[in-house]
Parts: sequence; structure tokens; C-alpha cells
Amino acid sequence: MWILCWARWTGKLDGQNELIVFGEGIIKGLAVTARNLVGSYTDKERLVTVQYPEERVPISENARQFPFLVFDGEDAVKGLRCVACQICEKECPPQCIYIVKDSVRKPDAAGKMQFQPRVFEIDYSVCMSCQICVEVCPFDAIKMDVNYEFGTTDRFGGLLLTKTQLSKPNGYFQQIHPVEAAEVDGRLAADRAKAEAKARADAEAKAKAAAAIVKPEGKA
Ligand code: SF4
Ligand code: SF4
Repeated sequence: MWILCWARWTGKLDGQNELIVFGEGIIKGLAVTARNLVGSYTDKERLVTVQYPEERVPISENARQFPFLVFDGEDAVKGLRCVACQICEKECPPQCIYIVKDSVRKPDAAGKMQFQPRVFEIDYSVCMSCQICVEVCPFDAIKMDVNYEFGTTDRFGGLLLTKTQLSKPNGYFQQIHPVEAAEVDGRLAADRAKAEAKARADAEAKAKAAAAIVKPEGKA
């Protein structure tokens, strides 16, 4: 059977005979396969195949498939974190993101006036799951999904996902990537608290300045 596997004696090496076994790696590999094959009947850890789609392997937290848009709160439109800065669109290597910025600003989930994308589409048939869009987004608005079940017979329309299809709540992000989501939530909460404190301080300073102007006029 394994013709490639044979042994031969070579000349002396430091006074000792050296044995060279050709095909040793193949034998070791087959031994591992045989151990897993036999072991899979008794040890579930050795069973590397499952009866998909009835059975599924748990998805690792680090898994990544395609990007999706995160929104805060209950309203997918109002809570969308994306401010249509278009950085991801420019940085995407295969250019599979298409964004059209809205012409008016709207209040976001924190009440701050922001632009939003009127159109945000990703062509999943072109996306190579590199995650660059996620890394360059300054607003934690786009994250990688773990869902891989996008089989379709419609090669173009079926894999061109729209803003509505891409938008998913932060709760979903927390569920699929709990560690990363906790870090992002903490950072965003701190940023928002800082922004609110600054807005309060600015308002107080403005009110004081206005009072200082009004006072002399009242006296007069
Ligand atoms: S994961 Fe990569 S290829 Fe896919 S949309 Fe993001 S940047 Fe583009
Ligand atoms: S997902 Fe992020 S990088 Fe892309 S347009 Fe929206 S805010 Fe900008």
C-alpha cells in the first residue's frame, strides 16, 4: 500500500547508524485520522462533523461574516449610529459599500443633530469579510455579523442588502459579540456623559453671560 513509506540505513553519523523513514509524516497524519475516527464513536469532542442544517456548531464570538449597521434604542431610523461620513465606503477594498448622504440633519439616539445615510447598501456577493469598514468607522456604527446563511438563487438582488436589511439593534450586537459590545457600550456611555456635561457647562456659562449683560441695563 504506501509505497512511499520505506526505511533505509544510511552511512555513519558520529559513529551511529541514522535511520531515515520516508513518509513518516503521512503515517503520523493517518494515525491521527484513525484515532479521531475510532474516538468519535465514544468522545463527542472528536466528532468534527454535524448533521447541518438540523445541527449547528456553536458560533465563536470572534467569528465574522458580513457587516451590519448598529442602531441604539428601538427605532432603527432614529437610533442608527451611522452618520454617513462615508469613510467605510472609501476604505472598502472591493468597493462594495454604496452610501448616499441625506440632505438634512436629524437628532440621533442621544438627541444630537446628525446626518444619516439616505441609502446604505452592501453587496455581500463582493464583500470579502475583511472587517476594514468596521475598523475605520469612528462611530462604532458598523460591526461584523456572524450569520452566514445567505444562500440565494438571485446572485445580484438577493445579496445586495439595503439599509433596512442591514440595520440591527445594539442588543443583537451584545448577543453575538458580548465582550466587544460591553467595551463599546462603556466607551459610548462615557463619551455621551462627557458631551452632556460639556453641553450643561456651556449652557450655564451662556446663561451667566446673558445675566451679566442684562443686569446693568436693569439698573439703568
Ligand atoms: S468587510 Fe471588507 S469587503 Fe466587506 S464591506 Fe467591509 S470593508 Fe468592504
Ligand atoms: S458606517 Fe461608520 S464609517 Fe461608514 S458611513 Fe457610517 S459612520 Fe461613517
